[in-house]
Amino acid sequence: MIFDTHAHYDDEQFDIDRAELLGQMEAGGIGTIVNAGSSVASWDKIIRLTEEYPFIYGAVGVHPDEVGELDEGKITRMAELLERDKIVAVGEIGLDYYWDKEKHDLQKKWFIRQIDLAREKHMPVIIHSREAAADTMEIMKDHAAGMNAVIHCYSYSPEMAREYVKMGYFIGIGGVVTFKNSKKLKEVVREIPLESIVLETDCPYLSPEPFRGKRNSSLNLPYVVQVIADLKETTCENVIQTTDENARRLYHLEKGTMTAGGEL
Ligand SMILES: [Zn+2]
Repeated sequence: MIFDTHAHYDDEQFDIDRAELLGQMEAGGIGTIVNAGSSVASWDKIIRLTEEYPFIYGAVGVHPDEVGELDEGKITRMAELLERDKIVAVGEIGLDYYWDKEKHDLQKKWFIRQIDLAREKHMPVIIHSREAAADTMEIMKDHAAGMNAVIHCYSYSPEMAREYVKMGYFIGIGGVVTFKNSKKLKEVVREIPLESIVLETDCPYLSPEPFRGKRNSSLNLPYVVQVIADLKETTCENVIQTTDENARRLYHLEKGTMTAGGEL
């Protein structure tokens, strides 16, 4: 079954039909979901989702747009939440020079602080990086060497993707790969091994074609799978199985964990 490595079901866009939608995952072939954290306010909602749904795991972290709200007290709270069974990563964390909501120095400071916390806790990191390619690479090299990481919603060059793969990181591929103007990302998928790719939605954002612009959910991942299978000249089944194994390596989720289809 499909593993969605990055979703935001805590988002208010799901308030009207969250339970109904999550009830359709098993029938839709979605086995496991990791809900990424974005702000401090998202953490409690994520904990509740992981308690309510056996197949949902969580990450806690603060997105670069929101790091102005961080202080050491909140880092301590994060450290406590990371002790919980179903919290499997620190994220999403990183740099965003596109929205540029917080000063670059502040973004870097809290990016590094959250990486350090993940290292202390032996946990993987979910990286958000937009128009900050060089600074992200530098920080990953200096502070996250040897750690498990995914570069989520990857948007840079094939050369840089190869470099991240060499560093042992995973590349997160979602709806964007289905867009007609996504030549560079298709090139990335062709060039890196399937063993380094994980599937993600970033829902409610980034719906694949033919639903571009509409609210996204994990149920749309088969469209992403199809495009990756075509690019890699393999079967959808192979893409689903290999990316599921990759995601389990990334998040240290082994056999015996719960999926929407029952125990793995
Ligand atoms: Zn996200």
